[in-house]
Amino acid sequence: MKTKSQMNRRGFLRAAGLIAAGTVAGTAVAKESKKPSPKEKKEPKKAPGKLQLNKLGKTDLLLSAISIGTGSGPSAQVIKYAMKSGINFIHTSVNYAGKKAIKEVAEAIKGKRDKVILGLKITWAPDDDKAMDNALKILGVDSVDIAFFNIHKADDVKNDKYRKGAERWIKAGKFKYIGLTTHSEMKECMENALEQGFYNALMPSYNLTMEKECEKVFADAEKQGVGIVLMKTKREMNEKTYLQAIPKYLSTPAVATVNKTLKTFAAVNEIIAASEKKLDEKQEKEIKKVAMMGMTGHCTMCGTCSQTCPQNVPVADMMRCADYYMADNEYYEVARETYAQIDVSKCVDCGKCEQVCPSEVPVKQYKSKLKKLFA
Ligand code: SF4
Ligand code: SF4
Repeated sequence: MKTKSQMNRRGFLRAAGLIAAGTVAGTAVAKESKKPSPKEKKEPKKAPGKLQLNKLGKTDLLLSAISIGTGSGPSAQVIKYAMKSGINFIHTSVNYAGKKAIKEVAEAIKGKRDKVILGLKITWAPDDDKAMDNALKILGVDSVDIAFFNIHKADDVKNDKYRKGAERWIKAGKFKYIGLTTHSEMKECMENALEQGFYNALMPSYNLTMEKECEKVFADAEKQGVGIVLMKTKREMNEKTYLQAIPKYLSTPAVATVNKTLKTFAAVNEIIAASEKKLDEKQEKEIKKVAMMGMTGHCTMCGTCSQTCPQNVPVADMMRCADYYMADNEYYEVARETYAQIDVSKCVDCGKCEQVCPSEVPVKQYKSKLKKLFA
């Protein structure tokens, strides 16, 4: 058996016993992370078409409809190509790919700060000035345009320390606008953020299976002038369906941009081209149907399992570890570190988390295999 760090997504699924004969929980297995071929390493001579610019809520930020996420550390070369292609919003974090991501962003934007809108995930306490300054220093900038508090517990969103931190840092010129990013208890986190009234933007993990669940909160965001940046929109969709779904994501109320880690020139070209397509109602329905079928059995990070657990085990966070690990080998450390913070010993194996899962995720199997991999 390969070592943990060598094991890729398919390897994890196989180790987890979740694939057999090429299927995951009865659905097709998505391709493994695409590595750039030697041909792809060469920048195409012609940049792709024009990207639409969308206003982020009531802010004065005009974001390109497709923006670049840096979760698994795209190279500075690819980030520069994305900028040249019309992508103007870059989101990063000191935690992505063990600081590699933020350093690549710093390299890409050197001398071009005025050409980009920068987003930064705040993974430290809202009074930790040292961490804030350190992130800006690594990026080589005095301030970012929008910073996102990273909160995954709906009740935590209500804590006034975030408002105080945001106001203090905005006053100190560390960033202009404040957002909230979340990938657990998402609907509730977003609802609570809107209730707080000081957020300018929300950045949830979102996919087509969550359309109905998030319909109201997105409509409320639009009414309040809070912009939405969508992340983790691909999940387990195959590449073709995903690209077809891009216009659907972009037509969602309040959505200004789809933020996606793009690691090759080809990936930049493909997603920009996809954003220019228009879908009629029939095509939208068809894409949603295909996406929903493909997503059955895959965690959408809705948080229902965590909210149901009688032992308060953050099950959705455990599922996030599996997701990190499956997404890309470079996330292994993030997955391991996140898992280390979860007290799995509290689980009494009652099975409720699996029973309530609306996506029919085999939670029990994931839990047991995560334990073997990370314990
Ligand atoms: S495992 Fe199921 S219930 Fe838990 S977060 Fe994922 S989709 Fe929701
Ligand atoms: S099986 Fe464990 S994690 Fe799942 S609901 Fe029961 S106690 Fe919680």
